Amino acid sequence: MTERVNILGVGVDAVTMAEAVTAVRRYMDTRTGVMIATANAEMIMRATRDPALRDILNAAALVVPDGAGTVWAAHYLGYRMPERVAGYDLAQELLRSAPAEGRRIYFLGSAPGVAERAKAKAEEIYPGIEIVGVRDGYFKEEDDAAIIDGIRASHPDLLLVALGVPKQEKWIHAHLTQLGVPVAIGVGGTLDVMAGVMKRAPRWMQRAKLEWLFRGLLQPQRAGRLLALPKFVLKVHAARK
Ligand code: UDP
Repeated sequence: MTERVNILGVGVDAVTMAEAVTAVRRYMDTRTGVMIATANAEMIMRATRDPALRDILNAAALVVPDGAGTVWAAHYLGYRMPERVAGYDLAQELLRSAPAEGRRIYFLGSAPGVAERAKAKAEEIYPGIEIVGVRDGYFKEEDDAAIIDGIRASHPDLLLVALGVPKQEKWIHAHLTQLGVPVAIGVGGTLDVMAGVMKRAPRWMQRAKLEWLFRGLLQPQRAGRLLALPKFVLKVHAARK
């Protein structure tokens, strides 16, 4: 069991990427039926205003430290947090090892056509991978039952859900039992990046811990969301006292 660190009310697991991958493998092997969340500063800030989201995150089997802000906050509060485990990177690690392990994967979310393109990309870079189903993320509540049936029928080991925060976490939580999948992970913009409709920050910016800035600048509609980071820093500072 890993140590869970309380950051503004959200428990984040002090895991490395390798430990996170091992944990997901174990859940797939035991077919447990769990949700895994990737907590960045923006998600944690949102959880401070959205108790339902906070409770869902705290009930997740694993919450990985996604983003430099989360790792910084843990350290600032005096906890151990070995490294950043970005949701995109975790998804790629799992996809990479899927063919050898015979894991079946389902992509749910993003605009129409994106999940198909992400599937084609996965098949190109991870030969032999079994993406057993895809479905876009623009659906109504009345479509839930048919979508869940489709997922159940394709028997995935891993369900990647890209509906954005907090929709993906709430959707997974609400339907986890019916879905019958061993593991479901909310992955935000991962399918967009795989499909090439959204870019990830260049390596140097990721290393300089500036990925949040890149995303804010590249998607002006998210510019307001840039403020989440300074607000997060102030809140963590206040929490330390
Ligand atoms: N999305 C979706 N259905 C919705 C709202 C959003 O499928 O009703 C998708 C959107 O197309 C994008 C992803 O969810 O692929 C959200 O990506 P974003 O980078 O905004 O993730 P966040 O930072 O919100 O986790």
